[in-house]
Amino acid sequence: MFLVFIGPPGAGKGTQAQRLIDYLEIPHLSTGDMLREAVKQGTELGKKAGPIMAASQLVGDDLMIGIVRERLAEADCTKGCLLDGFPRTIAQAKALDKLFAHMNRSLTAALELRVPEAELIRRLLGRFQEMAKPRADDRPEAVPKRLETYRNETRPVLDFYRLTDRLAAIDGVGSQDEVFDRILRAIDQQTSQK
Ligand code: ADP
Repeated sequence: MFLVFIGPPGAGKGTQAQRLIDYLEIPHLSTGDMLREAVKQGTELGKKAGPIMAASQLVGDDLMIGIVRERLAEADCTKGCLLDGFPRTIAQAKALDKLFAHMNRSLTAALELRVPEAELIRRLLGRFQEMAKPRADDRPEAVPKRLETYRNETRPVLDFYRLTDRLAAIDGVGSQDEVFDRILRAIDQQTSQK
């Protein structure tokens, strides 16, 4: 099962991604984690991506597509994976379809975790107050900008999947168990339609 997981900061994507990969026994391909690791290791990729990430901008499509292409070719992705943080642009979404086609695979569904902005703001501010060492990104002043960036960047990608009947929108308000159940039901629905 090949899934794309999309959701704004504060939606609970991290928690649900973890539950989903444990349940489905597929690897978690987070491009943010991959890039942070590259920065930490000081690789060529890390040197290129580091300053871009620090400025909260997007790393170039070609670079990102190359990273995902290599990762998808690894043995643990044969049966499926959960992509997280990718695709972030239409070019990436189209390239992902091509990559899958070349590998005789196809995307099962794009899952969108939806939470109203007022609730996201409440959660993000609460999280900040609980953190001992917050990331610069987590400062309360940065919250509106992060939400705006999400809206601007991600809407076209959501539209792309909606128009090709692959988008499953999931209500992210409720207990972790409730949200997880909704995700599983949404996946069932998408797979039974095909
Ligand atoms: P966030 O923590 O804001 O949800 P991520 O952890 O997914 O973001 O990614 C952190 C940073 O890495 C992004 O702000 C961006 O600079 C870069 N990045 C991650 N994935 C991509 C991608 N698919 N395309 C371009 N840049 C990316």
